[in-house]
Amino acid sequence: MKTLSLKIQHIEESQTLAFTRIVEKMKAAGIDVVSLNAGEPDFPTPPHVKMAAIQAIEENFTHYTANQGIPKLIAAIISKFAVDNDLHFEPSQILVSTGTKQAIFNALQAICNPGDEVVIPAPYWVSYPEMVKLADARPVIVPTTLESGFKMTPLQLRKAINTKTKALLLNSPSNPTGSMYSQGELEEFADIVEETGIFVISDEIYEKIVYDGPKHFSIGNIKQIRDQVITVNGVSKAYAMTGWRIGYLGASNQVAAAAAKVQSQVTSNANSIAQRAATVALSAPSNDVDTMVTEFKRRRDFLMGECAKIPGIEISKPKGAFYFFPSMKAFIGKRIDGERIKDDEDLCRFFLNDQQLVMVPGSAFGAKDHVRISFASSMKELEKAVQRLKEGCRKLHEGF
Ligand code: PLP
Repeated sequence: MKTLSLKIQHIEESQTLAFTRIVEKMKAAGIDVVSLNAGEPDFPTPPHVKMAAIQAIEENFTHYTANQGIPKLIAAIISKFAVDNDLHFEPSQILVSTGTKQAIFNALQAICNPGDEVVIPAPYWVSYPEMVKLADARPVIVPTTLESGFKMTPLQLRKAINTKTKALLLNSPSNPTGSMYSQGELEEFADIVEETGIFVISDEIYEKIVYDGPKHFSIGNIKQIRDQVITVNGVSKAYAMTGWRIGYLGASNQVAAAAAKVQSQVTSNANSIAQRAATVALSAPSNDVDTMVTEFKRRRDFLMGECAKIPGIEISKPKGAFYFFPSMKAFIGKRIDGERIKDDEDLCRFFLNDQQLVMVPGSAFGAKDHVRISFASSMKELEKAVQRLKEGCRKLHEGF
């Protein structure tokens, strides 16, 4: 039998999805697992959004739509970009996709040639490097540290760019760290982007889930690089609509048309019913996002306070999204029952087996010795999680 493609052999499976599968199996076996690996809000999709979908079905809005998306959703996206981000697009500059994931994939396929490089600050969302590889380009990872608030500096960006660089992939607020770039910091990046002519893919999916600081700022709002920026977003996180699979991009006419060409040969239009639901999510005023963010903030503050009491855990306070990304370096090298915890994967395996507590290893996000902790779980679950975290850490400190 012939072998699989070389490309697929070099692609990692999404570790966050792999963990979800393990948890589902454990839960199905009746094990009391506490999961801190959720990548989605634990809130229901708002009722008025669900109603829009039901109505779409009842009206038989169940056929193919235009590849680019339905006109009403495109209008709602244009208006959202204008109101929230001060970004101004024509309909031809918008492409609706099957999740933000597909929007990013389309964008990369549209701009990358074999051998191109794409700069990705780490820690990064798990799919970025793999998507870059699928576009026959090379991910160039720029490491950042907890001490610097997990932010890339302009100097690091400048050093990472060469003649092969095609794009910078930015995610603010970030999954997995919750870090956020300020307008001033993005303006410094913009100078470099303008000078070098590279594209920026700006993944703004967590823009509405921000806590104490200033509002999210879109890099595409910086005039001199406007045509170089591909802004991607979606309804998954802000409207608790992960399963509906609607994302979108706003870009120059040339990029939007190229991305649409990719999509037209892969999936065609995003789900027609979900498009109608997303139109309502984006256009009907509601307090659901605010309620969700208030609750996330309460959980963040609780978890932050509790983790600060656990010796060995070092945390940078997340400004947005719903994740902590603590350094667990103090536990690497510890021995438990004679077994050495040699890295963050061993550490997560220990917490899973010993405490039935699920966290995702930092190496999945390009940062070893860390773990990702999601606070998209109820307070009751988080309280249980904290007890297990404390107990596991105590055992590790006392291990031999
Ligand atoms: N971008 C980031 C940073 C994410 O964390 C996620 C989902 O976890 C996505 C994109 C994908 O979102 P969607 O559900 O819209 O495909």
